[in-house]
Amino acid sequence: MEDGKPVWAPHPTDGFQLGMIVDIGAGALTIEPFNRKGKTFLASMNQVFPAEEDVNKHMEDNCSLMYLNEGTLLNNVRVRYSKDKIYTYVANILIAVNPYYDIPKLYAPETIKSYQGRSLGTLPPHVYAIADKAYRDMRVLKMSQSIIVSGESGAGKTENTKFVLRYLTTSYGTGQDIDERIVQANPLLEAFGNAKTVRNNNSSRFGKFVEIHFNEKSKVVGGFVSHYLLEKSRICMQSKEERNYHIFYRLCAGASEDIRQRLHLDSPDSFRYLNRGCTRYFASKDTDKQIMQNRKSPEHVKLGALKDPLLDDQGDFNRMCGAMKKIGLDDTEKLDLFRVVAGVLHLGNIDFEETGSTSGGCILMNQSSQKLAYCADLLGLDQEDLRVSLTTRVMLTTAGGAKGTVIKVPLRVEQANNARDAMAKAVYSCLFDHVVRRVNQCFPFKTSSNFIGVLDIAGFEYFEHNSFEQFCINYCNEKLQQFFNERILKEEQELYQREGLGVNEVHYVDNQDCIDLVEAKLVGILDILDEENRLPQPSDHHFANTIHSQHKDHFRLTVPRKSKLAVHRNVRDDEGFIVRHFAGAVCYETIQFVEKNNDALHMSLESLVCESKDKFVRELFENSNNSKDSKQKAGKLSFISVGNKFKQMHTEHPSLTSCHISPPPVFVYGLCVP
Ligand code: ATP
Ligand code: MG
Repeated sequence: MEDGKPVWAPHPTDGFQLGMIVDIGAGALTIEPFNRKGKTFLASMNQVFPAEEDVNKHMEDNCSLMYLNEGTLLNNVRVRYSKDKIYTYVANILIAVNPYYDIPKLYAPETIKSYQGRSLGTLPPHVYAIADKAYRDMRVLKMSQSIIVSGESGAGKTENTKFVLRYLTTSYGTGQDIDERIVQANPLLEAFGNAKTVRNNNSSRFGKFVEIHFNEKSKVVGGFVSHYLLEKSRICMQSKEERNYHIFYRLCAGASEDIRQRLHLDSPDSFRYLNRGCTRYFASKDTDKQIMQNRKSPEHVKLGALKDPLLDDQGDFNRMCGAMKKIGLDDTEKLDLFRVVAGVLHLGNIDFEETGSTSGGCILMNQSSQKLAYCADLLGLDQEDLRVSLTTRVMLTTAGGAKGTVIKVPLRVEQANNARDAMAKAVYSCLFDHVVRRVNQCFPFKTSSNFIGVLDIAGFEYFEHNSFEQFCINYCNEKLQQFFNERILKEEQELYQREGLGVNEVHYVDNQDCIDLVEAKLVGILDILDEENRLPQPSDHHFANTIHSQHKDHFRLTVPRKSKLAVHRNVRDDEGFIVRHFAGAVCYETIQFVEKNNDALHMSLESLVCESKDKFVRELFENSNNSKDSKQKAGKLSFISVGNKFKQMHTEHPSLTSCHISPPPVFVYGLCVP
């Protein structure tokens, strides 16, 4: 770097600004910004990077830049983005920037055709080129391939995953039903597993690994979807301005009159599980007057205040039904799904009140009897049994030598509320497992030579308030980042060294310490939380204190009280902790961590649903691995760790265990423009 040359220098809000070096001092450079002549500032040597001669010129591959550094890479992606060129390579890795609108012809059938059989780099960067490379590698190497899509929430992972599936089935399918079914499974999965968050109107609240299987002639023969831990807490409670899973609103908005009557549906406002999150019903650009007018519109009266103008629940319901038909679900199966969804909604409307008697306990509030009746009817349960199971807990006692005596312990209002919510979560998550199982039956295959897998998880997130869900999701993203570091940065550099190439070492931040902080045996945050759950009187405060005393001087962990970040100022050290993730620091509020980490359902409630008169509901529970697992353990423990399930998933996932994939997987990195 020398005087007069253009450079990228730090900028307090934009990240980088273009400037010129006007003086080189001992420890710092004096920079004059291009757009503010005469206003120089100092920057340290390691913050300043050489810029390209022509900053408006862009390259399809960042590796073709004259100077490759953070400043030039970001500028190149930005210049391309401003010209609607949302894809850019870094060698084999694809960067995708979310355009938030449909770029004409970008995904048109003729575009699909043009990428078939073409090597990476011969055509403009595209997710289709990545899909085709995976396909050609699979054929040549005779090995299954993986495409890993990563990026923060809203970056476009799920959309790009769908483009890959569409590309592969269109290009290398047999033209039979199966091709379309693989694509059409998505609207159904998204209806039950995606929701509106403050970051993304269609945010995936579960992870999935979709495999497309090919025969010996490399033609599509079928598919298989594995899914990972749906965010269960959303079923009963959503943060402000967020929604529950799409299916609930779509069913309320789109069901025909006879289904509405059969399921006793009403507007979303009338259901506890739907009316406590979303408070912003209208687009923020609407004026107060428009909002008032909207409130009085016939549409609003029909659908209720929770109709979100940014989402077309009714249209989406029809599209979802279309997709169900295409993948072969008949009307009975469709109604089975809707029945359970409605059952969960009515369950959520059951309220309890203290009995007032000395023995404690609670009873159903008067107006809840109707809701109980609806719920029992829809889930095939006996009304009286459901009422008793919600208000009492069955325990096996060994007291006084009377081994194995069953006693019924009355529940307090708060405990009954928890039991009701636990049941709703268990029923809905078993329903989601069923949806995935059913989807898998739609594209079966007898034999398969190889597959191409696409991994699409919930992206890194940081909100104003972050809880256990964000902690699990961000841990998941931390693991993915580590995998990326290992496969791309570490192994490539080792290869260069072995081959004696004089390439400068690339320094990167190893995040193993962050992962250890979360998952280390006994001292990791997840194990500390499990220990807390096993205490006779677990508490979120005690849990937070244990973390801080266990990891006093940990580089990755800080106490919120000392944070300079405004949003964290109000969180005390016994109410939260800050983790420095690879993608930024996140303050987690520990309130409800203990409760959310427990997946156990009361024994009595579980056995009640398992013995439902309704075959469909009974089978939901019989077929769920989750439930088998819980049944074995719940009797003894009354605690099943959610965090631990997350941990297991990451240590066992096929696309992330290196033995399964050598050659490295293809990475797609999503970026979201704020
Ligand atoms: P999350 O981690 O929350 O699931 P995500 O990375 O999967 O987020 P997407 O749901 O794929 O994000 O994208 C968010 C929204 O951005 C989409 O619903 C769509 O409206 C828009 N979008 C993303 N990619 C594209 C694209 N290539 N073209 C047009 N719109 C896009
Ligand atoms: Mg997604």
